[in-house]
Amino acid sequence: MQSRKIEETQIPQGGDMAQIAMAVAAQQQKNMITLNKDLLPSKGKYYSNDLYVKKLSTIDIKNLSTLTGDTIDGVMNSIIAHCVQGINVNDILVGDKYWLVFYLRNLTYNDYPFYVKYNCKECGKVGMFKTQMKDINVNYIQDDFNPTYKMDNGDTIEIGFPTIGNEISVNQIKREPEKYTVDGAIDEQILNIACYIKTINGSRVSIMKAYNYICELDALSFTNFGNYMADIDFGIKPYFEIQCDCSNKVLVPLSLTPEYFMPKITNTANK
Ligand SMILES: [Zn+2]
Repeated sequence: MQSRKIEETQIPQGGDMAQIAMAVAAQQQKNMITLNKDLLPSKGKYYSNDLYVKKLSTIDIKNLSTLTGDTIDGVMNSIIAHCVQGINVNDILVGDKYWLVFYLRNLTYNDYPFYVKYNCKECGKVGMFKTQMKDINVNYIQDDFNPTYKMDNGDTIEIGFPTIGNEISVNQIKREPEKYTVDGAIDEQILNIACYIKTINGSRVSIMKAYNYICELDALSFTNFGNYMADIDFGIKPYFEIQCDCSNKVLVPLSLTPEYFMPKITNTANK
């Protein structure tokens, strides 16, 4: 929790990052702005407190620009812990995590554009597409989302969405499955689905208890539940959608490259 008091701000956050950045600059002493929770993929439905954000530090940027597959989770979590306040990082939903990383990058660089190369398979055009925060595609949580789910087998499940804390637990289980199962084998997909089950018929369950429950489900209950979960999930889509001149839609994967986190911004002061 934030120990010093953070004053309420009247900062517009409708997507105009330049405007936000100006407001941030005006409040440099405080260094924090209130996050408009409606922008999050979860729309902030699971966060009762206000959340505050600040720009990435030099160390955050350095860590982001040297990401590897092994460090990605740890780096992202520590950056969110550093730049998002008003909440324990373990309580942030995984569906909001990547959105927050892109948001912090764009907040830090005043939404400085990032160009991605695309290649249209329909007309053969090769072009560069300018991307900004508004171009990050988001699947939002359904407004009328109801966490109660009735299984085909008659059980009532309370659905929750996995948090960074759950993700850390899952990684621990994957690393040492023999501590959690008799035969030491773990199905990763089922383990991931297990994170969405908070209670079964009113009783709170651990991730492994939910995992074992899913493993023993009948095929119909499992298939319907899996499909339902896929429908209600939220987060950013891992690609840009680029409309080619020929009207074809080209998908280009989202970039977590060093250039994205350390853009070459022209420094006019030294010219
Ligand atoms: Zn085309």
